[in-house]
Amino acid sequence: MHEECGVFGVYLKDVKANIAQLSYLGLLALQHRGQESAGIAVAGGENILIYRDLGLVTEVFKKDILGTLHGDAAIGHVRYSSAGSNSWEDSQPILHHFSGGSFALAYNGNLVNQSELSSMLAIPYKNSNSCPTDSRLICKLIEATKEKDIEKALEKVAQQLKGAFCLVLLTEKKLIGLRDSYGFHPLVLGKIKDGYVIASEDSAFSIIEAHYLREIQPGEMVVIEKDNFKTKQILPCTKKSLCIFEHVYFARPDSNVFGENVAEIRERIGARLAVEQPADADIVISVPDSGRFAALGYAHQAGITYQEGLMKNPYIGRIFIQPDQALREYSVKIKLSAIASIVTGKKIIMVDDSIVRGTTSRKLVKLLKKSGAKEVHVRISSPPVDFPCKYGIDTPNKKELWTNHFSIEALRKLIEADSLGYISLEGLTGVFQKNKPSDFCTACFSGEYPL
Ligand code: AMP
Repeated sequence: MHEECGVFGVYLKDVKANIAQLSYLGLLALQHRGQESAGIAVAGGENILIYRDLGLVTEVFKKDILGTLHGDAAIGHVRYSSAGSNSWEDSQPILHHFSGGSFALAYNGNLVNQSELSSMLAIPYKNSNSCPTDSRLICKLIEATKEKDIEKALEKVAQQLKGAFCLVLLTEKKLIGLRDSYGFHPLVLGKIKDGYVIASEDSAFSIIEAHYLREIQPGEMVVIEKDNFKTKQILPCTKKSLCIFEHVYFARPDSNVFGENVAEIRERIGARLAVEQPADADIVISVPDSGRFAALGYAHQAGITYQEGLMKNPYIGRIFIQPDQALREYSVKIKLSAIASIVTGKKIIMVDDSIVRGTTSRKLVKLLKKSGAKEVHVRISSPPVDFPCKYGIDTPNKKELWTNHFSIEALRKLIEADSLGYISLEGLTGVFQKNKPSDFCTACFSGEYPL
């Protein structure tokens, strides 16, 4: 089960702000990382209180609920799981007991050694009904250490976990952040008033007037207490494997992921795509919203006018959330419509970030042509997604990844585009300035799994 999510944590030394309100705002800014469930846990020195439910942040937290969650530290979670695991039990943060008391955990990632960990704990893994989520496994492993000190327990457990994990953990007195040694997904640290914040992305900082300090490093654990801030490298980082799909699609454009701004990176990817995959056209349009910055970069590089040719209904959730193909086909239509007066009679370059099952591109080419477009050239700001992600991004299995079954020319015919072009892997990894191409996990494109 994938747990592609957003996590948040905040600790204030002198509580003058409503901690639940801050967490709520932070989670709103991380909503793109998960729309299935949301939750907040607060700790006020004596006990931990959690409220979580299925739904968007604004649906789960009504005013009367936020008013009941008091404390000086909090963690929050938004969840975006793969289809079929939409239950309240799987929403987070979760509360668990260990030898030293209680803690709440919020987790983003995907472990690759669940079966090994389950058998260590004597939990049947194969029976899917009782199969624990990664976060429950981590809780049980913490309990199994029999340690009274949560830091020591977490240090021991971190050595046992294989895969991608970013987590925030809250005890009655401590807020802890931990990132796996490969650094697959982002986890950042910020400063707020007299306290600290931790989040999957720093888009959660500006909304609460916190400022970005730095990334939590791969393998680093930070521990925040009332009068203490500690950091410790608990796992050695021998190889970084930063998820490139965070930059391509998943993260918010105003976030700084792995030290670089997402919008800027997407523009550079678009510019590179224009060099590698030129086309003769009147306008460049994007598939909103994820293709927008790459399309702008493409248009600028190619010297072709950028226009908004597709209109997105912002009130519909991400289409991946729809469980089966029939619903997915339908939801593309309700989500996006063409602006006929802009596209009629034009040769169009349509830029999107990725093709996964092919539904979006196929539907949109059809829609644009029906709305009067003369030609539609599809340009994709990532290489073909040929392999499923094992580290937390929700990609379908190999059979459903359509690029595995067809040549690019066959794909072009299937989506009825006039041309189809993808950026190369070298082109994509070459746009970063703070990280080398080898610092990225590109398994979904290359099949080279770092673990
Ligand atoms: P598809 O229609 O199946 O080819 O999916 C491609 C569309 O889904 C693109 O417009 C992407 O922006 C979006 N997308 C790509 N990866 C994901 C993901 N992991 N979760 C949700 N949406 C995605």
